[in-house]
Amino acid sequence: MKSLAETPVTALKGAGPRVAERLVRLGIHTVEDLLFHLPFRYEDRTRIVPIGALRPEQLVVVEGEVLAADVVFGRRRSLLCRIGDGTGVVSLRFYHFSAAQKNNLERGARVRVYGEVRAGGSGLEFYHPEYEVARGTLAPLEKSLSPIYHATEGVQQRLMRNLMAQALTLLKQQPPRDLLPSDVLQQSSLPTLQTALQKLHTPLPDDPVDMLLAGEHPAVRRLVIEEMVAHQLGMLSKRAGQKAQSAPVMKPDGLRKKLLSALPFSLTGAQQRVIQDIDGDLCQPSPMLRLVQGDVGSGKTLVAACAALNAIANGYQVALMAPTEILAEQHLRNFLHWLTPLNIRVTWLVGSLGQKARREAYSDMADGTAQVVVGTHALFQDAVEFNQLGLVIIDEQHRFGVHQRLALREKGRRGEEVPHQLVLTATPIPRTLAMSVYGDLDTSVIDEMPPGRQAIDTVVIGEARRPQIVERIRNACLQGTQAYWVCTLIEESEALQAQAAEDTVQALQIALPELTIELVHGRMKPKQKAEHMARFANNEAHVLVATTVIEVGVDVPNATLMVIENAERLGLSQLHQLRGRVGRGAEKSYCVLMYSGRLSETAQRRLHIMRDTNDGFRIAEEDLKLRGPGEWLGTRQTGDMAFRIADLMRDEAWLEPARDTAEVILKKYPNHVQPLVKRWLREGDDYADV
Ligand code: ADP
Ligand code: MG
Repeated sequence: MKSLAETPVTALKGAGPRVAERLVRLGIHTVEDLLFHLPFRYEDRTRIVPIGALRPEQLVVVEGEVLAADVVFGRRRSLLCRIGDGTGVVSLRFYHFSAAQKNNLERGARVRVYGEVRAGGSGLEFYHPEYEVARGTLAPLEKSLSPIYHATEGVQQRLMRNLMAQALTLLKQQPPRDLLPSDVLQQSSLPTLQTALQKLHTPLPDDPVDMLLAGEHPAVRRLVIEEMVAHQLGMLSKRAGQKAQSAPVMKPDGLRKKLLSALPFSLTGAQQRVIQDIDGDLCQPSPMLRLVQGDVGSGKTLVAACAALNAIANGYQVALMAPTEILAEQHLRNFLHWLTPLNIRVTWLVGSLGQKARREAYSDMADGTAQVVVGTHALFQDAVEFNQLGLVIIDEQHRFGVHQRLALREKGRRGEEVPHQLVLTATPIPRTLAMSVYGDLDTSVIDEMPPGRQAIDTVVIGEARRPQIVERIRNACLQGTQAYWVCTLIEESEALQAQAAEDTVQALQIALPELTIELVHGRMKPKQKAEHMARFANNEAHVLVATTVIEVGVDVPNATLMVIENAERLGLSQLHQLRGRVGRGAEKSYCVLMYSGRLSETAQRRLHIMRDTNDGFRIAEEDLKLRGPGEWLGTRQTGDMAFRIADLMRDEAWLEPARDTAEVILKKYPNHVQPLVKRWLREGDDYADV
């Protein structure tokens, strides 16, 4: 007999090809998938409530005798049927009704009614309830609570329930294989898969429905944990697959000392520690997969440069990829500044490069002239070829999907050998989430800022005080520092945003004639953008008016004041990233969050969090609370980790036990791994393509 996982839904009565097609929209292909489609609500049709005990807004079953059924003329004509059971009287009201219906509800007939009681014109009433008139005896009551499912167009509740009933019969006949080992189940007092599914689809009247719906019942937990275990296994086997590949061994070399001794500062302890982690990885003949987390300004770029030197010293090329040209350019500037004195050739490849420059870049990369290539998505386009790519560095990983990261790695594949990967992120991901999103990476944290950094003072100010803010800019700039003025998104339109930035430049230029004001926005030509940025970076302009394009990575330590206009429109992580553009030197820095109009409660909360803390981890955690993981991570990342039953926020507590269980299964029950992954991860899920 075929297992439920191998049985297509079309094996069920009532599920033809059209229905099957519609079920696919709910992610349901097989009978097993159908069983994993859990109810989101239950109705209690198992007991009859005495009419005398009814309270408004209850969903109930009552039974009684028809006392009267009359057409009444109120504001609208309706059929009003009074029924009583000896404990009280209640009305059924129908605004749409047929003559047959009226005749059917004749005096003395027994009816069973299901619906919601409301306070109405004649006391308690049911509006258009489901009801059944007795022909002889009424059908027996339901024995279990009635599940309500998310349905979809063309698959109504009734059909869904009908299919589920058949699926549950099959479940009894051929229980699915229990892939969580019994000792694990016993240890955590979890039911078998069969028991859990049965319970969730047909709970008894006394079962704690609230717990079932809130994911607190062992039956749901059983599924949640199994799903999480499967994801962890997917991740672990992906990782094992990656680790099984080979990679060039790169020993550290004297080059690094040369770089470090040329710097006006020394590495922080945290930077040293992370570099040691990286050295350890690069000495192995298997590929490094390391995520470096460090708050904005913690000095990730230098860590990346040190790693790059290992590769270069061993004759390999390095690719550094950033999500935007502005950010890539920042890296280019740093790398040129640090590496050119060491006679290392750094090349630049972005989408906006002209034909000639691009061809040159391509040929330098292909023949190995280019030792480091800095760029954007352009780095993994088809025409790109490397000579000896040994290390891939990806900045602000959360802007890229896993696939893009892998695409760049593939550029460096030489048979079985792949490059090492180093991923940098300033978006601190709470530990538990990191386990799901970055479970395939080793993690190092730069948990220390370069010395002398002072917390940025942040104020929240209404737009009415704009003139004061302008004064503040004047004072700051006349003392030799620089300022950013950020215009935020208006209606998602870059054109409007650019317009707003241009208007701001004009207004500021009039108010501050003695200052030089520069502009960058997303609609500018890259070359122009770069020139304007460079002028600001070289301290040839006092103020940089910008759209949120400067959000990531821009590094001008002399800038100490940041004004963010309409800050209420931005999310916490974006605000934190923007604010991180100041406070990068030894001078005290300030951030002005300007808002207009009345603040919503969440906007107010966001701005207050920003005012109260500089700690990126705290901000990320608050952000996660406010937005939930889906939105927080962005569609790219969540697409990589879609859960069917588990809910990362709700079930966070189970991630760690799931991880442990996954390790146990890997060691003690290796033959459960494939079936678990197959059961829970859809084909095409990234874990597959190791
Ligand atoms: P992020 O981690 O946000 O990418 P950067 O790498 O841009 O941070 O570093 C922020 C600034 O701190 C840069 O100007 C960089 O040169 C400087 N920096 C990095 N490491 C140190 C250090 N150990 N001591 C002092 N300044 C440092
Ligand atoms: Mg950076």
